[in-house]
Amino acid sequence: MSNNPSFVLRGVEDVVFEERPIPEISDDEVLVEVKKTGICGSDVHYLQHGRIGDFIVKAPMVLGHESSGVVSKVGKKIHHVKPGDRVAMEPGATCRVCEDCKKGRYELCPNIVFAATPPYDGTLARYYRIPGDLTYKLPDNLSLEDGAMAEPLAVGIHSVANIGKLRANQKVIVFGAGPVGLLCMAVAKALGASRVIAVDIIPSRLEFAKSYAATDVYLPPKPLEGETKLQYSARNAKTLMEQLDIEDRGHKAIDLVVDASGAEVSIQTGILVARQGGSYVQVGMGAPEIQIPVTTLLVKELNFSGSLRYGPGDYEFGIALVAQGKIDLKPLITHRFTFEQAKEAFETNRAGKSEDGKPVIKAIISGPDVSIDDN
Ligand SMILES: [Zn+2]
Ligand SMILES: [Zn+2]
Repeated sequence: MSNNPSFVLRGVEDVVFEERPIPEISDDEVLVEVKKTGICGSDVHYLQHGRIGDFIVKAPMVLGHESSGVVSKVGKKIHHVKPGDRVAMEPGATCRVCEDCKKGRYELCPNIVFAATPPYDGTLARYYRIPGDLTYKLPDNLSLEDGAMAEPLAVGIHSVANIGKLRANQKVIVFGAGPVGLLCMAVAKALGASRVIAVDIIPSRLEFAKSYAATDVYLPPKPLEGETKLQYSARNAKTLMEQLDIEDRGHKAIDLVVDASGAEVSIQTGILVARQGGSYVQVGMGAPEIQIPVTTLLVKELNFSGSLRYGPGDYEFGIALVAQGKIDLKPLITHRFTFEQAKEAFETNRAGKSEDGKPVIKAIISGPDVSIDDN
């Protein structure tokens, strides 16, 4: 194909289709013909607000970063993929020379070029240029949609396996049953967790979590009038532990808490329900500043960690678990759109459900001239 239609964000609530030049690649890069792209909360956030924290959309930017495609061209130095190969695309190109890159924590690289994070263009185009080593050949039993889902899956792998260091037979609780929370649950289950508890304030999400990867679910009570957030969280933690027969020591205790909600009361509750010496991982982004019960954190000697995107090995690990049949990504894909329907896809994602009332977990936009049925 000789053109490169792209879905471009120009400013708040202002998106257009534009023709962009087809990128030239260097010796260590690959040109991918993008086939499937999942919509992420961050894409929608940029559309609505034009910024996330200090990342501000100042110039037109192509959206999208959860993508898979077919290799179109490879640079001279690339040997692990060839034109025609189906690949998952890891969207963060790091500098490789800073301290964090060299230490093997490249997600912390201060020079990262991340797709659809201003000022860098994303993947909702016909063609995307990417460092060759960030393309992962899809095993035959993975679809192109699975390849796009490898991105949020890598977030779950990073949080649960890499930062949370979950081991088999441990017990996990995940706050927030959106796409990332569900994938954290799926990873926990795949790694042999003996208990995976899902917490969410939307009952239909809990129902789905139970059918997907959770062994137990918990619906928090409503706050009482006049109750502070910390008072609420203490009551919530107590109720949760009673209802689910959880103790703070011994074989009934929670080894790993993952917060994929970003909600202040979930974070507080998570600290309160974790076992003595347990781990807590923050992957959900919410209010930038909150109160936490820090004495509890200290007394329990919790390992309290942040988890950002994904690092070395996370993509391969996730793809391998899917290829082995230990994680099924298909139930998470609820909506499919053609490239021309990209605006509608964003609207649906923002509304949280389609016109027929079906809730969105993950919506996928196909590449230009790719059918939604062509996986
Ligand atoms: Zn994302
Ligand atoms: Zn770096």
